[in-house]
This record gives sequence, structure tokens and C-alpha cells, in this order.
Amino acid sequence: MAGFIAFHACKQRIATEKPAPDIREINQKEIPKGNKTIAITSVLIIDGNGGEPITDGCVIVRDGLIAEVGKTSEIMVPAEAERVSGAGMSLLPGFIDAHFHLDGVEGLPSLFLQNGVTSLRDPGAWIEAYDGERKSGKAVPRLFLADPHIDMFPPAYPKDAYVVRDAEEAVNQVHRMADRGASVIKVYFRLPPGIIREVCKAAHSRGLPVTGHLETTEAMEAINAGLDGIEHITSFGLSLIPQLEGEKYRQIVLADNNARKRGRYEVWQKIEVDSRQADSLARFLASKGTFVSPTLGAFEYQQETNVPLDTVRLAGFDKMKRLTGKLRKAGVRIVTGSHAMIPYAGKGWAYQREMELLIESGLSPAEVISAATIENARFFRIDDRLGSIEKAKVADLVLVRGNPLENFAAVRNIEKVMLNGTWVK
Ligand SMILES: [Zn+2]
Repeated sequence: MAGFIAFHACKQRIATEKPAPDIREINQKEIPKGNKTIAITSVLIIDGNGGEPITDGCVIVRDGLIAEVGKTSEIMVPAEAERVSGAGMSLLPGFIDAHFHLDGVEGLPSLFLQNGVTSLRDPGAWIEAYDGERKSGKAVPRLFLADPHIDMFPPAYPKDAYVVRDAEEAVNQVHRMADRGASVIKVYFRLPPGIIREVCKAAHSRGLPVTGHLETTEAMEAINAGLDGIEHITSFGLSLIPQLEGEKYRQIVLADNNARKRGRYEVWQKIEVDSRQADSLARFLASKGTFVSPTLGAFEYQQETNVPLDTVRLAGFDKMKRLTGKLRKAGVRIVTGSHAMIPYAGKGWAYQREMELLIESGLSPAEVISAATIENARFFRIDDRLGSIEKAKVADLVLVRGNPLENFAAVRNIEKVMLNGTWVK
């Protein structure tokens, strides 16, 4: 018996002390690495870190990596280099999407890549769901996958969920997903803080961040339980309305998953963005370093012709944008998540729409570009190799016509896209 106990204890110790693996995209080995030397010259370099851009800049790419960054006049372009003039254009780090779904649209990841998204994260889909896209023969972005999100019965999205009944089942599932190559764990709104805490402990022991879609779990409770990131600005509803109102909403949604679709606008139109409650939420998120992916595009409402104006949705959406701007001003780490297929973006352009909605929320163009690149790299825990234009980082780059710091619409003028040191557009 003693031997059995010792063996069991030993096995457990090995499980928890396993060194944290580097976070890897599931298709890392499938992405060809560039073997050419490429010089992009006379270009405005916006490196993603939020500082002053480099005018008349030059970037040398060699063996898939960024070898040099500086002024064109100060960098020696190797004779063998393929030269690309960036005159009138801006060079940005490849965009990183924190919230992508396949949504049954064939070819959507490759379409996003053509529009500058070089890395994407799907916060809830079986890894196998991407098999078809990976075998399509088309270039696709780096795929950071969660495997199914963790939910409880009855799940909101059964196909994309793993349903748990207690913390032990949740922890076992975290380890299975980590073994399969998940690069993040996502908890869904039925999970209470006690289970979120155990999920976070297990995920963190494997080096994985945890993000959550909340709505029926109060955000600060979930963050105190260990959550690293929040998906959807609507996850903060319960933190901002009087508890009596919040509890009514919670019970309706817990009884019927679909009740939140309109219910959330009813909640949000009542939220006071200029309130002590909102101030303290903002301070809390900033002090915790929590990443917030508002996915405003998923909730956007615009008045449509020949349809009566829905004042509840209009007011609710306006509050979502105002809270997003307020959080950023308080120093909260805002990141960009597109939600892939949204009402007011053409197929493949949801990422750009989300960036524009962040501008409408009051972020500066430089802040939005950081939210799209380096902040997301930090959220994904891949900022050692991606997310900015810096020497020795991986050459995932986007060349756009114009200067998005002056006219943000330039982020739609995609001229060229580089993935791993190879032009894919
Ligand atoms: Zn989603």
C-alpha cells in the first residue's frame, strides 16, 4: 500500500512539475520558411510598440527572420537581396487575431491572411476542425487553437464545447488539450469561479493562458480566480449594473442560453460608463494586467434603411464602445479580436472592422496597431518571437499603401503580406 501511495505521489509530482512548453501554433511545421534575403526600403516602419515610426526606413529579412531594422540611408542592402520599394507605404507587424471562428466558411483563414492577419486564435473549436483548412493547399495564418471551450450543461455551443460536471473533470480536460497542442484554454459562461480557479491552476502549470467568455460569472471574481484574458466587452455587464438587475439577467440566461442575445443590450443600455463602479473596474483590470478583447464587431448595431430604429441596441452598443475607450485610458491592455463573421464587415474584413471600432471607441491609431500586434503577442505568450518589427523576430509583415497613423483607412490597403519570411500576397 505504501508503495502505491509513493508511486501515486511521484506521478502527480511529475505531472505538475513538467516544464512549461513553448506556445506553438498547431501548423508551425507546415509553414514554409523563407530562404531568400529581402530588403524593403524607403518605407514608413510602424513597429507595433507604439513609439514614433521610422520614416524612410529599411527592413532586411533573412532566413525567415528580421535581420535589420533602421533608416534606409544607414543600412547596407546585401547585393543578393530581392528589393521591394515601400515608397508611399507603411510596414507593420503581421496582424494577430485573438478571436477567430471558422463559422462554416471554407477558406476563411486564408482570406484573413490575404488581408494581413498572419496569426489567429480560435478560442473554441476542436483542433480537428482545422484539418480541412490545413490541407487546402492555400497559405493559412499561424493557427493558435484552444480545442473545445469548457462549458457546463446545457452548453451554449455544443459542437465547440467540452461539457464538464466538476473541477476534476475540467482539470483532466485541460491536460488532455495541452497534450494535443492547445495554446490557450477558454472557459465559457456557465463555469463558476471555483472551477475556473482549478482550470487556471492546471493551465498555468502547463504554461497556457486562460481566457473566458463570462456574462453570468462576475468578471472580477473570475479574474481573481486566475483568468488572464476576457473575451467580449459584454463579459463586464454584471460588474456594472446593480446586483438586483444583474441577478435577474443571470437567472434568465442560465435558464436559456439564447436569452442573452437581446438581453445583453437591455443590460448595456442601462450601464453608467461614468460611474464609480466603472472606474473601479477599470483600475482593477489595469492593476491585474488582464487582456481584454472587446470583439465590438460582434455586437455592432447600425440603423438600417426601411427598418425601425432599435434604440435599445443602439444605446447598448454605444455604451460598449464607451467602456472600451474608458478601459484603454485607464491603462487596460486592449487587444484585437475579429469574431470572423460579423454583421457590418464583408467576408474577410472583420479584423479591419474591429480595428475601426476601436478607433471609434477613442483609441489612437498607434494604440490600435499595438492592440493588433504586440499586445496580442503578449496575450498569446509569443512576444519573444512575434508581434513587432524588431531584429531577430520572425518576419511576419504587412505592407499597406498610405500611413494608418494619419489616415486609418490605410489598414485596408493591403499591398503585400509576408509570413515566415515568404511573400504570401
Ligand atoms: Zn466567439
